[in-house]
Amino acid sequence: MTVAENTQAIEARVAQACQKAGRDRSEVHLVAVTKYVTPEKAQEVVDAGVTELAENRVDKFLEKYQALAGNQITWHLIGSLQRRKVKDVINKVDYFHALDSVKLAQEIDKRADHPVACFLQVNVSGEESKHGFAPEDIDAALDVIGTLDKVRIIGLMTMAPIDADHDALEKLFEETNQLRASLAKQNREGMTFSELSMGMSRDFPEAIAHGATFVRVGTAFFE
Ligand SMILES: *Cc1c(COP(=O)(O)O)cnc(C)c1O
Repeated sequence: MTVAENTQAIEARVAQACQKAGRDRSEVHLVAVTKYVTPEKAQEVVDAGVTELAENRVDKFLEKYQALAGNQITWHLIGSLQRRKVKDVINKVDYFHALDSVKLAQEIDKRADHPVACFLQVNVSGEESKHGFAPEDIDAALDVIGTLDKVRIIGLMTMAPIDADHDALEKLFEETNQLRASLAKQNREGMTFSELSMGMSRDFPEAIAHGATFVRVGTAFFE
């Protein structure tokens, strides 16, 4: 299938998942992850009407950012970010999805020239290999992050384990949404916890069913 056909099919599935969940389509941002493809292919996604693009590595992000500069694009950085690379990229990014340490937040605060919308990456599945805060470590981290003017926490991001079955996915997404809701209730200054970044090609409909407001879809655009 062409990128345009895939985009239509994905858009239809996003709309269907929203309808099934009783949610408005406008509540969900469809973010196209272009990490597998050339800037030319990424341009096809933009031409098909997608306005939000994501990369997971700084070098690839910068390559696409330059190559696609002629377009109106909202840019997402979704992968783990090394502290020494923050200065190269942070002022080009509209949303950063992988805030996974206090030290990284402090470096962003130092290098950013404006408040950056960030998702706190969480690891509710407890897998040792995964990036992200364990739920029990979040409060202490937020006490520090809350003092940083240039780090604006808007919500949580999670990645499902590759081997998760359907039930495990549903449980993970629901737990992440509940964690988000409980953090929102704390009413921390400058932190809304209104957003949830979760769901990829294989599981974005389930993520939408459990409250995702940003889905990060890669493979499905380019099959
Ligand atoms: C690659 C990637 C995605 C997209 O995954 P697909 O399975 O290709 O849709 C989403 N989020 C992150 C953090 C990624 O690295």
